[in-house]
Amino acid sequence: MNIAFLASEVIPYAKTGGLADVAGALPKFLGRLGADVRVFMPYYREVRAKHLPLRTVVAKASLDLGCGPKEYSVLEHAGNGFSVLFIVRDEYYDRECLYGTPAGDDPDNGERFAFFARASLEAMKALGFRPDIVHGHDWQAATAFAYLKFPYVNDPFFQGTRSLFTVHNLAYQGLFPPEVLASVGLPASLFNMNDLEFYGKVNFMKAGILYATAVSTVSPRYSREIQTPEFGCGLDGLLRTRSKALSGILNGVDYADWDPASDRLIPANFGPSDMAGKAVSKSGLLRMFGLEGAPDRPVAGMVTRLAGQKGVDIVCEALEDIFRLGVSVIILGTGEQKIQEFLTKAHKKHPDRLGLKIAFDERMAHTIYAGSDFFLIPSRYEPCGLTQMYALKYGTVPVVRATGGLDDTIREFAQAGTGNGFKFEAASAPALLEALRRALAVRARKESWEALVRNAMSADFSWSRSAREYLALYEKVRTAPRT
Ligand code: ADP
Repeated sequence: MNIAFLASEVIPYAKTGGLADVAGALPKFLGRLGADVRVFMPYYREVRAKHLPLRTVVAKASLDLGCGPKEYSVLEHAGNGFSVLFIVRDEYYDRECLYGTPAGDDPDNGERFAFFARASLEAMKALGFRPDIVHGHDWQAATAFAYLKFPYVNDPFFQGTRSLFTVHNLAYQGLFPPEVLASVGLPASLFNMNDLEFYGKVNFMKAGILYATAVSTVSPRYSREIQTPEFGCGLDGLLRTRSKALSGILNGVDYADWDPASDRLIPANFGPSDMAGKAVSKSGLLRMFGLEGAPDRPVAGMVTRLAGQKGVDIVCEALEDIFRLGVSVIILGTGEQKIQEFLTKAHKKHPDRLGLKIAFDERMAHTIYAGSDFFLIPSRYEPCGLTQMYALKYGTVPVVRATGGLDDTIREFAQAGTGNGFKFEAASAPALLEALRRALAVRARKESWEALVRNAMSADFSWSRSAREYLALYEKVRTAPRT
């Protein structure tokens, strides 16, 4: 089966969050199941800086989406089990950040990502890669479904093509002024409620939800949640109309990158039968964050975007109480100015209790997963969440809010010795503290704690299972009528 993946970030080339982990790992596992997957992504400055071995597959092509012809080229890289095709257009992608600066999103993101989607479809034709499935991820790829539905509707090349749109986070929809349609080569007539109009704007994500043959999300619970007003971000009604075509497949973990037994980014390796390396990793972590003065204190780690979604403000509110419980906190994250400022102040006040790094740093992230005792994820909503799955593998016990994928993957630890973490319902500091108290009580009982850590480390969220589910979904979508 030929699968064309369209994703705006893919590990190990460019990453701001979980989408990159998924788009880099799933193709590898689909490849092992016999699918021919080609991954299309923009050629960002940070990709160029990696000096990858590349082959030019389209030297010079041009696209006119309404603002005059714009040139691009396509470079191919032999990835880990799949081929990656980079869309090169420096005016759009040779920038410091993928989507914008801390001051805000890039104003031309509509044109940039529509161009990426359209050039990817053109590249498929140039390469003679006829996809059975175009699998696009999030709003950045979503105009591909509008192009397949309108300008390419009678193109013989795509007659056998069906499509899948995966929503990784419904809150980021790609909203642009109505004029964007004219500059991305889509008919102005799509500016109506039943197509892409959304409260006076053009909504790219609607193109994926409306025009893809099928829609998926990254956990079963999130696929149900987004059909409710609470989690639907204004699109729940539309999603309900597509409920028959909507499903949820839990993301997986690529244990080649996330296994404490082989991870080269952590201070010492360890596994369920030899945990000595976890203690060494904890010492390394405490040194890294200047907390080595209190080696016996339990550590609660966080690796997160500093965004309202992630409930970091709940941790901020609970911080002093967490310290009173005798727990140190280590946070690695980037994001909203307000949260950064609060944490920076708190760090100045409690340098011996709070470890803080405002950065995106893969090594530090791995060290936090390896060296912490608990991992805090108080998300307001969580489409899937990867960090709880990584924490589990490193024997770091998740304390999470019961929402989305967190609820699907974490089971409350019980006296009987079952469960792999702690969950709370309310998005509030008292609820978080109460769950942390339960976690500390278990930690105080050596045997129970060891049973809990064993359960955590034995959880298997390998991609091989989820990749099989995707393949089954592709098979179903492939025989569905065109939308
Ligand atoms: P989301 O995609 O909503 O941010 P996920 O839990 O799905 O959340 O994925 C987050 C991914 O990004 C994980 O791989 C996590 O380790 C990583 N990550 C988040 N913030 C940082 C950071 N500051 N430094 C390094 N890795 C980070």
